[in-house]
Amino acid sequence: MAALKIIVVSVTPLQQNCTLVSDAETRQTAIIDPGGDADRIIAALDANALDATAIWLTHGHLDHAGGAAELAEKLNKRPDHVPVQIIGPDRRDDMLLKNIVKQGELFGLAGLRDVTPDRYLEEGETVAIGPHVFDVLHCPGHTPGHVVFINKAARFAQLGDVLFRGSVGRTDFPYGDHAALIDSIKTKLLPLGDDLRFVCGHGPNSTIGAERASNPFLK
Ligand SMILES: [Zn+2]
Repeated sequence: MAALKIIVVSVTPLQQNCTLVSDAETRQTAIIDPGGDADRIIAALDANALDATAIWLTHGHLDHAGGAAELAEKLNKRPDHVPVQIIGPDRRDDMLLKNIVKQGELFGLAGLRDVTPDRYLEEGETVAIGPHVFDVLHCPGHTPGHVVFINKAARFAQLGDVLFRGSVGRTDFPYGDHAALIDSIKTKLLPLGDDLRFVCGHGPNSTIGAERASNPFLK
């Protein structure tokens, strides 16, 4: 099986890690969390000769989902392009996806758009890029409908704003739930194994093992 190729593009003034996950052989690519800067994401796809086939969303915050509608529209206008669908997150983040323009106003960010996914995701479903299958886990707490994408075979995950290197997602929103977040991490992510490496929504990569050993929020 061809390797899984990972490219991170930092998007929006909030420096969110938009992640391109590709099959190295066919170049088929899923774009995880295009929060904005659609033209820069397209430039990264073109520079690496990647063929976008889907947009996957971890949750409904503006810096993760605010560029999805524009990106899908631009990609789908290209000639000979396979239609790109917007997939995820869990339906419980619908109230955020419908509120992205207003979220942007609070941060002084214009040009973002509300999103209606082509398909919501649920715990236990899978999504795939070519032969690379990702398990979908529902990890609420940062937002009610947050999902993460786990490729067990490649020992790789994209965890959005659930778990960071040395930190966890903020929960000081009216809909935030710190206890649920920690429970999601301890019951769903830590059991995946210490060698699982992950990209998160902000900041550097890490592994489950490093966070199990030293993340102060998991003591
Ligand atoms: Zn977030």
